[in-house]
Amino acid sequence: MRKAFYIGGQWVEGSEYSPLYAPHSGEQLAEIPVADQSIVEQAIRAAEQANPVMRKMPAHQRASMLDKIADLFAERSEEAARIVAEEAGKPLKTARGEIARTIQTYRFAAEEAKRIHGETLPIDAAPGGEGRIAYTVREPLGTIGAITPFNFPMNLVAHKVGPALAAGNTVVLKPASQTPLSSLFLAQLAEEAGLPAGALNVITGSGGLVGDILVTDPRIKAITFNGSPQVGIGIRNRAGLKRVTLELGSNSAVVVDRDVNLAEVVPRCVFGAFSFSGQVCISVQRIYVVDQIYEAFVEAFLAETRKLRGGDPLLEDTDFSAMIHPKETERALSWIREAQQQGAHVLTGGEVEGRVLLPTVLTGVPVDAKVSCQEVFGPVVLINRVESVQEAIGYVNDSRYGLQAGVYTNDLHTALDAADRLHVGGVIINDIPTFRVDHMPYGGVKESGMGREGLKYAIEEMTEMKLVMFKR
Ligand code: NAP
Repeated sequence: MRKAFYIGGQWVEGSEYSPLYAPHSGEQLAEIPVADQSIVEQAIRAAEQANPVMRKMPAHQRASMLDKIADLFAERSEEAARIVAEEAGKPLKTARGEIARTIQTYRFAAEEAKRIHGETLPIDAAPGGEGRIAYTVREPLGTIGAITPFNFPMNLVAHKVGPALAAGNTVVLKPASQTPLSSLFLAQLAEEAGLPAGALNVITGSGGLVGDILVTDPRIKAITFNGSPQVGIGIRNRAGLKRVTLELGSNSAVVVDRDVNLAEVVPRCVFGAFSFSGQVCISVQRIYVVDQIYEAFVEAFLAETRKLRGGDPLLEDTDFSAMIHPKETERALSWIREAQQQGAHVLTGGEVEGRVLLPTVLTGVPVDAKVSCQEVFGPVVLINRVESVQEAIGYVNDSRYGLQAGVYTNDLHTALDAADRLHVGGVIINDIPTFRVDHMPYGGVKESGMGREGLKYAIEEMTEMKLVMFKR
């Protein structure tokens, strides 16, 4: 079926289309319009025209608009989950989880829309400041360019569209080429929710072409980007003084101390490593386990991994499926082979069945193997032995990335020490780094990005502070 762009409240046909294929079955799902320069221009103009409307809209109305989007998602949640399962190859049960979170993200956005405020300032704290009243307000930036990845095509879009609209901005959204249907579905809901024409514009097509224009056009006041470090760094380099929020990749790690309850820890680690075949920015990629429980941990981990079922993402009991593209499967496989050549052992997986790379567990991986020091973004995890949590923290920090890290320990001092020493955006004690709820501040250090998401924090990035002063 032919799809259309959503611009200025209208469904606009493209002059060129490209086929969209399902990652697992290879079936064609739709024909997606490919934006050219004039379409991007049209979208930016539509957003610009809607800015005065959004800027004037009272907070309660912005909130009810976002609540309405959440209501519509709730009504059509099964349809939304199937779209994600089909275009991203995300197993249905995981896709349903994403939709539940998407609803929460729009609800949090609606709530935050009512809490955007500044503060009053004691100007007379400075000599010469007597007789003055001052306060700050937070104003919308204007048009936000949102560029999103394939792996959470509903919820990561919500993390951009939600706070942008909550703050009274307008949006030009460019979803990943593999997952345009989720964003076009959102556009349908936004239309039904009665968003002003031009408040949300969705354009599909090449990241290079659309992204370049959005990043360099002066009418776009901020870029909010989720994706790979390579593209994110390129955006930062071209953005000049434009606000840029970057949520990038990682090679997240979890550290397991002795005396923890393996029956609880191991299933969580398996979930963190193989959920959506590891195509999650905070997927568990490296596990460091202290010597005393290493053998027991590995044995339990393998047993738990073998319970997972692979196959068609649309089947109810599927846990893992094909990666997003065969060339990504090839890349992950070649990294596994490289680690083997460097002395690592494959305990399970390391093979492709049909289009599906099996969950792969490696041990004895050297620090300079790609599966350790780069972002695998696939169903591959390493479990290495360490003498102590302190030693493990050194390995965790020895990374270009720093999104979140997890530490399982029952020792308070070890936990507090880890919280101090780990150089990441979020330290999760007694859970995996994959833990995220949608209102918490979320983002990375080093090559994992800059700025924070989580509705309140994203709104800070998408508003400008203004000082107002009265001399009496
Ligand atoms: P990607 O290849 O970087 O693509 C992300 C988005 O950028 C897509 O919409 C893509 O469009 C667009 N793009 C490509 N080239 C561009 C350019 N030159 N200028 C502007 N935009 C451009 O990433 P992905 O493969 O979709 O997603 C996987 C990556 O995202 C992983 O590294 C993962 O860790 C990261 N991620 C991070 C977070 C986080 O919150 N920290 C969350 C999710 C994912 P096309 O699809 O058309 O190329």
